[in-house]
Formats: sequence, C-alpha cells, structure tokens
Amino acid sequence: MPKGGNSGPNGHRYRTVRAAVLARSDTCVLCGHPGADQADHILSRSQHPEIDVADPANLAPVHGVNGCPTCGEKCNQVKGNGTVTRPVRSRDW
Ligand SMILES: [Zn+2]
Ligand SMILES: [Zn+2]
Repeated sequence: MPKGGNSGPNGHRYRTVRAAVLARSDTCVLCGHPGADQADHILSRSQHPEIDVADPANLAPVHGVNGCPTCGEKCNQVKGNGTVTRPVRSRDW
C-alpha cells in the first residue's frame, strides 16, 4: 500500500475535517489534556457504518502516535477500536 496521496475517496475530506476539529479544540477527550494531534471517531465506524467518516460531529481530538505531552498516554492506541466515552482517569477519592 503506497503511503501519501489519497488513501481513498474520503481521505482528503477526513484530513480537512480533522484539521477543523483540532482547530476548534486540541483538548484530548480521552485524557483531558491539551496537545491532541489526531481526530478520532467518537462512535466506532465498525459499529456505525452509516456514519460519514468525515462527519465533524463524530470526530473528537485525541493524542495520536506522539502521545500526550502531559501524561504520556498514546490515547488513540489505548482506545483501540472501541467507543469514546469520557476521560478514562477515575476520580481521585
Ligand atoms: Zn490524550
Ligand atoms: Zn494526557
């Protein structure tokens, strides 16, 4: 599989929407820290194939391969293919 260029009919749209999501907010929805560099699907596409891959309403900022500068978590990989719910950090009591 060649890297770079369009990876599919939605590749360009996804990148554009991802940039818009990160411009709106870079606070990671998984760990709650700033500096997110990826937009991840809130509802998994495998479970919700009807949702547009580039629907900004279904994209939320998360930390990608570079990890979180605050807690070091690579949130996107931690989540895997599940569904984003809310920050995984439990309350400290
Ligand atoms: Zn994070
Ligand atoms: Zn973090």
